[in-house]
Amino acid sequence: PGAIEFRDVAITYGGKVPYTAVRGVSLQVQPGEFVAVVGPSGCGKSTLIKLVAGLLGASEGTSRVLGSLRPTPGKVGIAFQNASLLPWRSVLQNVLLPLEVAPQHKRAYRQNPAPYIERARALLRSVGLEGAEGKNAWELSGGMQQRVNLCRALIHEPEILLLDEPFGALDAFTREELWMALQDVWTQRRPTVMLITHDLREATLLADTVYIMGGRPGGIVMRRAVDLPR
Ligand code: ADP
Ligand code: ADP
Repeated sequence: PGAIEFRDVAITYGGKVPYTAVRGVSLQVQPGEFVAVVGPSGCGKSTLIKLVAGLLGASEGTSRVLGSLRPTPGKVGIAFQNASLLPWRSVLQNVLLPLEVAPQHKRAYRQNPAPYIERARALLRSVGLEGAEGKNAWELSGGMQQRVNLCRALIHEPEILLLDEPFGALDAFTREELWMALQDVWTQRRPTVMLITHDLREATLLADTVYIMGGRPGGIVMRRAVDLPR
């Protein structure tokens, strides 16, 4: 089965005045594929990612993630634009943080943290943060914080990595460094990636397939395979 399969999905937020944010969205993402979703503010990109993460349900249509109609806890990792690290904890502790709360990992991690710590170190190395493990998060530049954010989203070995504008707040140079770091992580570990971005260049540089969203309620207006040597 596909990693992510949406068929004619609509998502309506409840409340006094229900609001349909997304309508008629169909897409299919293969395991290990890297897709980008591009579109203007408010077209429903974050809403789609929340559906994949199981934070929302589809109001219409069907959505399967890793073959399941129900949320698949522990198999998805998310990184948002705001890295939200705990400032007084070390880089290593910030990466390990999800393991302290995730029901599927908490016990194993407490009983034997060593392999998790080793994995966190390996992830930090693969994004160029070796040597920074002991720094407190408040000491880090914006680019370093986003690297930690990426490692934290991957610490529990998710099959799907969701990235909601993770590079939006970075300067152009740092952003290009992060693109390379993400590409390295993806090449080495091959998670299925869904990246939300405003930056069409970023999308075509990193992704196999680019979905362009638009309208209100938002829908997919274009799907384009990126056929570049990488
Ligand atoms: P994007 O990520 O493309 O900027 P969003 O998915 O965040 O778009 O939002 C799509 C639309 O849904 C927007 O009009 C937004 O105001 C609305 N929306 C988002 N979250 C909620 C919510 N919790 N309740 C009601 N409306 C929401
Ligand atoms: P920014 O994200 O603010 O543009 P960079 O990530 O480009 O900064 O930082 C360049 C390098 O400077 C980093 O790789 C790191 O080695 C070092 N650096 C930046 N800020 C700090 C800091 N607060 N503490 C230690 N080293 C730092």
